[in-house]
Amino acid sequence: MGVSLGGDRLGGMETTTVTTDGAVLRLDGTEDDEGVDGGELEPTRPPLIATDGRVRLSFSRIDTFQQCSLRFRYRYVDHLPGKSATYLSFGTSIHAALELFHERTLFGMPSQDELLEFLYDHWDSSGYAEVSRDRQVDDYRRAQHTLQRYHQRVADDYRPAADTEKWFELPVGDEALVVGSIDRVDVDDDGDLHVVDYKTGKLRDREKVRGSLQLAIYALACEHLYGRLPATVALDYVVAGVEVRVAVDELDLDGAREAIVDTARRVLDEQYEPVPTRLCDWCDHQSVCPAWEGDGEGYGAAVVERDRLRRELRRGLGRLRSLEAGIDRLADELAERGLDPVGSDDTATTLRGRPAEDVVADDHDDQPDDQPEDQPRGTSTAG
Ligand code: SF4
Repeated sequence: MGVSLGGDRLGGMETTTVTTDGAVLRLDGTEDDEGVDGGELEPTRPPLIATDGRVRLSFSRIDTFQQCSLRFRYRYVDHLPGKSATYLSFGTSIHAALELFHERTLFGMPSQDELLEFLYDHWDSSGYAEVSRDRQVDDYRRAQHTLQRYHQRVADDYRPAADTEKWFELPVGDEALVVGSIDRVDVDDDGDLHVVDYKTGKLRDREKVRGSLQLAIYALACEHLYGRLPATVALDYVVAGVEVRVAVDELDLDGAREAIVDTARRVLDEQYEPVPTRLCDWCDHQSVCPAWEGDGEGYGAAVVERDRLRRELRRGLGRLRSLEAGIDRLADELAERGLDPVGSDDTATTLRGRPAEDVVADDHDDQPDDQPEDQPRGTSTAG
């Protein structure tokens, strides 16, 4: 399948578009609290529920639903417009350059200059419409440095990919069709497949990578496309310059299937509830969300009050720990000198008192603990 990218140049305002097999696609970036997650290619607004009754999902849709199902509804059911974001454009541009760098029809590795040319040709300015030109230039330079470092890192082991930006449509159960594109598929000398996904966000540890729903989806998609699971899947954190690779049997594929089907069923049941968390700060729909209505009633007040209490608690705990550490030192010193200023049999224990965590735990004993940490009381997760 031939893929050609029609891109933008620094300073341009167009949105990157991609054509494949004659279909016009748009970049539908996904976001989270760690930053950009590249982009997923979606045909222009296909229906959420297909004629066969399957819900059309992607990793970013499932992720959004799991974070806040009402946000999912605003974005994918009501199609409320979202804001462009610089980090989405940055990620899109890096992905486009790396797609060309690993293009399987190449005869040899593109030079560093050629890689930077790919970036120039496919720089996506759409997210920079509301920021200064300097900010965009800074990000462009950061993208150049990121790709230069990438080139140095992979030069010794470079080989063209078996596939890049490989589109998939994966049926799961009777309820879901998961769509998306795999950034890169490599094949080694033994014929084993290896899936790579580029990340321009924050570096995650190996445990988080093993638990990644996105990688599990890509492994299942790989099996669907090529008839076998990949041997490994990897997240390549290109800004940090670190690739985290795990064997496919470390992934929870059954758990991924369950999460996909569960999301599809909840979409079919129209189970949409606001779930206010700190991620609301990145939500484009606060102005219409009931969780943020008014200043004295409903979720809005609860969220504001919760955040204030958390700030106070954090400050209080910091001060408490510092006092505990000072008292510990004092108690040790007094014990060493054989002094007993509080008239206790065990001066050190009396001075130290109970650890802060125990005091806080006791203070919470009268509260039910069957609600997620970030959820105001009285809010249903509508599960
Ligand atoms: S503001 Fe928060 S609770 Fe409301 S839709 Fe957005 S993420 Fe959900």
